[in-house]
Amino acid sequence: MSEREAMEYDVVVVGAGPAGLATAIHLKQLSAKHGKDFSVCIVEKGSEVGAHILSGAVIDPRGLGELFPDWKSQGAPLNQPVSEDRFMFLSQAGSLRVPDWLLPGCFKNHGNYVASLGNVCRWLATQAEAAGVEIYPGFAAAEVLFTDDGRVRGVATGDMGIGKDGEKTGRYQPGIELHAKYTILAEGCRGNLGKMLESRYKLRGTPQVHGIGLKELWEIRPDKHVPGLVVHTAGWPLPADTYGGSFLYHLENNQVSVGLVVGLDYRNPYLNPFEEFQRYKTHPAIRGFLEGGRRIAYGARAIAAGGLQSLPKLTFPGGALVGDDAGFLNAARIKGSHAAIKSGMLAAQAAHDALAAGRSGDELSSYPDAFRASWLHEELHRTRNFKPWLKKGGLWLGSLMFGIDQVLLRGRAPWTLGHASADHETLEPRTAHQPIEYPKPDGVLTFDRLSSVFVSNTNHEEDQPPHLRILDPAVPAAINLAVYAGPETRYCPAGVYEFVSEGGTPRLQINAQNCVHCKTCDIKDPKQNIQWVVPEGGGGPNYPNM
Ligand SMILES: Cc1cc2nc3c(=O)[nH]c(=O)nc-3n(C[C@H](O)[C@H](O)[C@H](O)COP(=O)(O)OP(=O)(O)OC[C@H]3O[C@@H](n4cnc5c(N)ncnc54)[C@H](O)[C@@H]3O)c2cc1C
Ligand code: SF4
Repeated sequence: MSEREAMEYDVVVVGAGPAGLATAIHLKQLSAKHGKDFSVCIVEKGSEVGAHILSGAVIDPRGLGELFPDWKSQGAPLNQPVSEDRFMFLSQAGSLRVPDWLLPGCFKNHGNYVASLGNVCRWLATQAEAAGVEIYPGFAAAEVLFTDDGRVRGVATGDMGIGKDGEKTGRYQPGIELHAKYTILAEGCRGNLGKMLESRYKLRGTPQVHGIGLKELWEIRPDKHVPGLVVHTAGWPLPADTYGGSFLYHLENNQVSVGLVVGLDYRNPYLNPFEEFQRYKTHPAIRGFLEGGRRIAYGARAIAAGGLQSLPKLTFPGGALVGDDAGFLNAARIKGSHAAIKSGMLAAQAAHDALAAGRSGDELSSYPDAFRASWLHEELHRTRNFKPWLKKGGLWLGSLMFGIDQVLLRGRAPWTLGHASADHETLEPRTAHQPIEYPKPDGVLTFDRLSSVFVSNTNHEEDQPPHLRILDPAVPAAINLAVYAGPETRYCPAGVYEFVSEGGTPRLQINAQNCVHCKTCDIKDPKQNIQWVVPEGGGGPNYPNM
């Protein structure tokens, strides 16, 4: 018999990002409106709400405005309206600004806000608790629980105090079972429970495609700060056949959020997204903003970029996927927070209606129906060809075709382009490429990975089983290193993977305590031999206002 304690809820939500918080809040709003008191809890693996949230972020307030029409007077931390948009194509030394009249609407940010999504989530969490939602930060959902007839009936949090050797230590505490009539997964991009359910219930048709987003937060000189300025670039330092682009957002208080997104469908195994980001900051059009300033924080997180075509079936018996766990991000806009909130609200409505009708554990099929009738579907439909065009045509032809699609055809092209392959299938052997020479960091504008991880405040209990599981221990040296020159040593933004020599034989060493939970290894490993699972709750980065 299980020694785990069990708690009963109407709805359990996994993940306190914008999607999970909006789900829980809206359920409470609806149940209060209809005189019910449905119980809702959220588990969050970060040490506090916001600790694992990393975003740009330019926030489209449409979702938030539906959740809280009075968000301004209630004090939501969206204080800095966007004041100006600049979009530039970069070459190594030059830049070409796209005139505003040529910019497709999806690249314009008038009416949006530059903010910290982590702080927005902290604010949402206080609203959720005030509405009666129970939030448990520091608890990772490690396992999905099923009924005998194969429906989801909740999750279990991971045991604490299991040592590296798999034995109980003096800190041992068993996980807790959270039973629910409906379980909503809001783990963000590449959620590991969501991935497992996608496979179990065969939810996925078209593959999802991803990017890795690397970000730093800077405090810059007041004379260089333009509150509300939003700068996006495409081109250098990425080669034209590699999808990606940069962002530089001026927040309040002389802070600037700067980052680079690199498509994880890249082919060259020598490409190093972290180093590409570092050299991007040295571009003449960018470095001027940062010089004389100080880096405050660093982090990285994968984004789901496949859009409408890559959405899986959104429901399974006993629950649903919301936010980036499903893949609602609009890659053309690099925006997903408004979509996360909206999808959470739609799922909440479906769960509320089901509970009110006395149902439990079945499919919330009114949720996908409501999504198809929503503005979110319309928005994702309009930009659905963005990523496929850039993949097919590269930077120049792809941008031209997407421009025609948006400006001339207004997103109503009579075709929908697909995503042919998953990101782990696109790497080419090292013999087809030359190693890339990256400049050494100067410690002022550019940095190395270890000093960067330091400012992500990442911490894990050292005595615990590995949360980065290598399924076949022979594969890293025999295939990853021999054929692809060890790509995990480059794509990991935290330097977790390194090959060391043991008696002349290479062995993969995993420095798991540095992991910032970006999920890139789980996505990009060419043989899908690396499996990311949740470590002990509370471990991972402790982002301040990312
Ligand atoms: C570099 C970058 C820039 C971006 N820029 C913008 C932007 O400018 N504007 C914008 O709108 N969007 C932007 N986005 C996208 C936006 O951040 C996401 O779309 C949004 O955060 C998705 O919300 P979510 O709630 O689905 O997931 P997340 O925000 O990822 O939240 C998921 C939460 O679930 C928790 N969790 C995961 N698994 C478990 C588990 N098993 N147990 C317990 N807790 C768990 C996580 O710790 C996390 O707190 C950007 C993303 C990146 C990476
Ligand atoms: S180990 Fe994987 S999930 Fe962790 S930081 Fe590296 S690539 Fe990201």
